[in-house]
Amino acid sequence: MTWSNWHVAPFLTSVFFTLGVLTLYWVSFNWLTSWLRSRHISFDEDRLNAWYGVIYMVVFVFSIQLIIVGKNYSWQFMNFELIAIIFCAYFLNIHIPYYFFFPILLVYMLFDHSIGYWESWGHALTLAVFFTILNIIRVKFQDHRLAPLIYMLVGVPFGGILWLWMKIKFNFSWAIYGQEWLYLIIFEGLLYIYVTMLSQDSQTRLRLANFASHDALTQTENFAAYTGASQYLFKDSTQHQRPLSMMMFDIDHFKLVNDTYGHLAGDRVLQQVALTVQTVLDANDTKVKLYRTGGEEFNILFPGYMVAQTQTIVTQIFSAINHQTIQFGARQIAISISVGVSAVTVADGSPIDFYNRVDHNLYNSKRNGRMRITSI
Ligand code: GH3
Ligand code: MG
Ligand code: MG
Repeated sequence: MTWSNWHVAPFLTSVFFTLGVLTLYWVSFNWLTSWLRSRHISFDEDRLNAWYGVIYMVVFVFSIQLIIVGKNYSWQFMNFELIAIIFCAYFLNIHIPYYFFFPILLVYMLFDHSIGYWESWGHALTLAVFFTILNIIRVKFQDHRLAPLIYMLVGVPFGGILWLWMKIKFNFSWAIYGQEWLYLIIFEGLLYIYVTMLSQDSQTRLRLANFASHDALTQTENFAAYTGASQYLFKDSTQHQRPLSMMMFDIDHFKLVNDTYGHLAGDRVLQQVALTVQTVLDANDTKVKLYRTGGEEFNILFPGYMVAQTQTIVTQIFSAINHQTIQFGARQIAISISVGVSAVTVADGSPIDFYNRVDHNLYNSKRNGRMRITSI
């Protein structure tokens, strides 16, 4: 079997080629996001998806067009290119301001040697309008019951107009015109089904990953997430001599809250405590992370902080919690916390040594009368 003798209908090969391009995009994007996550690099997933998507598709469009540029059959890969464009406009919902369309299309037409043809200008203009309308219907009708129908109602006629420009320019037969348009319609339908299937699968995985790393009651990250983060940050700290501090706190006489007001009231207190701490962290530094590591025990990791530098945040949390009363029905519940703080030292051989010192400080706060901070 040689590449000129593939024995499979070109349409079928095209279908798998298109799906392959999208699958490679998906797999590589997922690899990239998990690589960033494993290094605790924070990023905006939607923005990364948009940037990565546009770069990937631009490379794809230009490299396949390069094979046939300037030839009298340079329209042959247009359906692939249109699918890439629809993917960016509709599924990734990348917004391109109208004043960017002009230079982008100009560069493409220069590259494609088609800048001198009025039909190509008509084609480019149609493409810009098509892109914008796909953007709009995605935002407006994404969750609409008839979203796939609306998508096809836009995709089908625009496909027809775009192919009409090419028919006028290259003067191929109506039979070819009809066939290419029909293929595009089929591709558009397949694209919709395929991307919907892929994104449902990745949403499920995302939900499962979130479920495994977060605590259901307070929505903070859980003990498993803490273990992973503390190991990673400890290694990073000892290898690069980067400071790392930790605050650990435990609610005072929490058993009494449960016994006096009931277990549900205790749950409400835990939720409010987590919310208060998170609010303080959000206002100060988003790199500082809260974990619920036990029933009424929480740990906060401060990458890049020495003990003295944690003081502002630690005292803000301490006084915010000790001064608030938590409402549960008609009851007002007041609580306090005991705190231990410490940083990684050269003597620490593992994250456990570090943890034990912070835990010991917390224990001293309890032993010395509770509602206090012990830090060394
Ligand atoms: P101390 O000041 O020494 O910390 O006293 P404490 O009563 O807070 O400590 P203790 O360890 O004796 O009690 C912790 C209590 O936390 C016991 C347990 O029932 C309660 N608890 C643990 N997880 C939850 C939870 O998810 N919800 C509720 N409502 N209570 C919880
Ligand atoms: Mg307690
Ligand atoms: Mg406890």
